[in-house]
Amino acid sequence: MEPIDRKTFLATAGAASLAGAAARPSVAAADAQDAVFLSTWHWGMEANRRAAQIRAHGGSLVDAIEKGINVVEDDPNVTTVGYGGYPNAEGEVELDAGIMDGHTHRAGSVCSLHKIKNPISVARLVMEKTRHTTMAGEGALQFAIAMGFKPMQLLTPGALEAWLKWKNTPNHQTFWIDGEHHDTIGMVAAGGGSVAAGCSTSGLAWKLPGRVADSPLVGCGYYADDAAGAASATGDGDVMTNYCTSKHIVQKMAEGMHPQEACADLMRYMARSARELHTNMYCVIAIDKRAEIGALSMNAAQPLQYALWRNGQGALHTAPHFL
Ligand code: ASP
Repeated sequence: MEPIDRKTFLATAGAASLAGAAARPSVAAADAQDAVFLSTWHWGMEANRRAAQIRAHGGSLVDAIEKGINVVEDDPNVTTVGYGGYPNAEGEVELDAGIMDGHTHRAGSVCSLHKIKNPISVARLVMEKTRHTTMAGEGALQFAIAMGFKPMQLLTPGALEAWLKWKNTPNHQTFWIDGEHHDTIGMVAAGGGSVAAGCSTSGLAWKLPGRVADSPLVGCGYYADDAAGAASATGDGDVMTNYCTSKHIVQKMAEGMHPQEACADLMRYMARSARELHTNMYCVIAIDKRAEIGALSMNAAQPLQYALWRNGQGALHTAPHFL
């Protein structure tokens, strides 16, 4: 099913929602071969399409998520992910990504990775080729090179121009206090009784060098557990990290909540203390092992678009908002 608006959700799931499953919509069957992919933003459409192709050719959910996210990382027109991503305050593109296999309960991630355009693929190799989970900075770059990745210039002419414009603006905004340009490709998938999740970003444009937020951190930008489901987050990662958003949502699904309910529970938790609730961007997506989905933004001012691939078809939707 699609996410429902908050009013309908409260009416159907409302007070009784935590107590029983009776009010919940019927469960869509997740055919073993027919994986469902749910991704953030409009570029999630292409990512899902690629993921579905990989799956159709016998790939695992992790293969599908990696290759799907690669499509967005490779696109120079997406200025918040991979090649073409806007750089840090020093003009250097610094990438973060993470991936998790809900079946093995293993994750891999890279933080502050320079010069490699597909951080999600490096993250996957951290997961599969090492006993580590997270690698950062120069060590992550050396690992990527050892794994055969070719260093390259990730700053496109467009991103360079945008950075110079920011740099040359008198009294430009800096991230000692606040900032704005950011997005992510987050993807969750369910199929064959398993789930997986991945997330990739260039983080905040003009960030302080070395800044790492939620996207590459297990339990924050993404989380997957076959016992329950998978989740991913997008938005102000400096704030969202403090709520372990994806783990929170998966935990609530494990306790029996529908993914939409679990997303709402996270927003309720954040709303107690997160700043600028009506203006800041806080968004999440979730899928459970039965391929029921959830998607929610905190407020109407920063709506979440999400791409859903189900039954061989893709569609773009706007998620309901919590407040
Ligand atoms: N969460 C990402 C970050 O803060 C950006 C985003 O998803 O919009 O780096």
